[in-house]
Amino acid sequence: MSIRLCQECCQWVSTRDGRCPDCQDALPETINPEEVDGRFRSLVGEVRGRMGHVRVVRRKLPSDGVFYETANGLFFLPYRTVTKRRLVEQSATSPMWTVAAVLWSPLMFLSPFLKRRELREKDFVENEAIRLGKDDLHLLPDFLSRVAGAFFLPTRNIRAITERRGQWTIERSLGSTISIRPIADGPFGQTMQQFADTRL
Ligand SMILES: [Zn+2]
Repeated sequence: MSIRLCQECCQWVSTRDGRCPDCQDALPETINPEEVDGRFRSLVGEVRGRMGHVRVVRRKLPSDGVFYETANGLFFLPYRTVTKRRLVEQSATSPMWTVAAVLWSPLMFLSPFLKRRELREKDFVENEAIRLGKDDLHLLPDFLSRVAGAFFLPTRNIRAITERRGQWTIERSLGSTISIRPIADGPFGQTMQQFADTRL
């Protein structure tokens, strides 16, 4: 099983036989992002704005990220995984005092007061949004070949967008149906409905 980019469908897929499950194209193991940037930029078109934070209902590929509206369709940019070093508080008891407390039991009553607090560095793996400011929005298409799990849905390939109990379903003319849920408060539902009403 490997994760590869299908340039034809503008999406990363999880594949067993090296082919895209949607278009059956044979996918190379690696690609040179610089070679595909130009094509993706013209396919995606001008970026119009951020729609909101969403969870794509799927396995094996990153599910949480941000949806964007572009001149030619919808773009999903997954969160990236980062390792952060933080200071955490740990209690540290001097071994000498523990031994002394066992040998002389009245000290046991004192032991909670003998504990020291110590700060230690610890690594945490977290997901965080790739922040794109207004001036960086034009860079969005370049992430398609560089961030595993990103995808672009051209408007001409979207058959229908419907919402049921907070879950949005996007049907495509080619490729499997995509289900997403907003994961943060905000105007996602409104912007998605507007997209469906005016762009399809
Ligand atoms: Zn494909």
